[in-house]
Amino acid sequence: MYDVIIIGSGPAGLTAAVYTTRANLKTLVIAGGKWGGQLMLTTVVDNYPGFPQGIQGPDLMLAMRKQAERFGTEFIDEDFSEGDFDSNPFKIKAGKKTYEGKAVIIATGADTKWLDVPGEKEKIGKGVSSCAPCDAFFFKNKNVIVVGGGDSAMEEALVLTSFADSVAVVHRSETLRASQIMQDKAKKNPKIKFLFNTEVTKILGDEKVTGTELKNNKTGEVSKMDLDGVFVAIGHIPNTIKFKGVEMDEKGYIKVKDHTRTNIDGVFVAGDVHDSHYRQAVTAAGFGCMAALEVDHWLRGQE
Ligand code: NAP
Repeated sequence: MYDVIIIGSGPAGLTAAVYTTRANLKTLVIAGGKWGGQLMLTTVVDNYPGFPQGIQGPDLMLAMRKQAERFGTEFIDEDFSEGDFDSNPFKIKAGKKTYEGKAVIIATGADTKWLDVPGEKEKIGKGVSSCAPCDAFFFKNKNVIVVGGGDSAMEEALVLTSFADSVAVVHRSETLRASQIMQDKAKKNPKIKFLFNTEVTKILGDEKVTGTELKNNKTGEVSKMDLDGVFVAIGHIPNTIKFKGVEMDEKGYIKVKDHTRTNIDGVFVAGDVHDSHYRQAVTAAGFGCMAALEVDHWLRGQE
């Protein structure tokens, strides 16, 4: 029996684990087959406080995991498959085993949102990507597009300019959603061009990407563009599909009450799985800390 089971091992889950174990709570992290969350797919992280020269995403996550382990957190590197939140202790399945916990923190983060157009799914890894830091290297001297108008799209485009010959940001709206500083950076880069009011309607190519079909949503004009890569940066989908009985909003993010609580007494939430607004490693870590403090407080109230 665990005092707390934390589902998810990104900055939110691991920070929560550091706090719960330091509060002497017996803690299990269901880390997932691919542990560490989105920072495992990043290169340098420049905006996490405490690292004046930046730090590689995977190095940061490994440091957090080791820190949690130092205080006694147990880890299961299996995917969460099912939770029974009907009665306490809660029953959490991962791999072939079921674990029992008095409290649960859901910190499963969010995954890439794809365009869902013909030709996309089967070419993921064959020219379609959602991670420029991971894949930009393969597009040396090639022509690529980035789809989206937010900070992620700007960041992807900037990373790609170190490798690709040309980068076009294809955005469905008239204006960018990205922060001014990111827009300015991207607009200053001579390799980056912008196509506004434009939607990707098809990704072309048999084995790998050779082009896209584009539609101008103002004029209705359809055109084709030859290229080698499509980087999709249109946001994320929260990993909440397996949480039956936990209240969510219309986009599938977990509804938060009183900072870190869910609708189920004893089930708490932290990070991008409920926060579609800030979505930063440091805010996720902050939410992890908050959830852990609340769990400790809640468990004391149950004694
Ligand atoms: P976002 O801000 O939600 O932007 C998503 C973009 O994708 C929007 O421009 C949206 O278009 C477009 N989009 C959404 N669905 C689409 C679809 N089906 N087809 C075509 N386009 C679609 O997401 P994000 O860029 O991933 O950023 C999320 C959060 O993380 C933000 O708060 C951001 O500031 C933060 N972030 C920060 C940094 C940084 O500080 N370095 C880096 C990355 C992300 P519309 O504008 O037309 O809705």
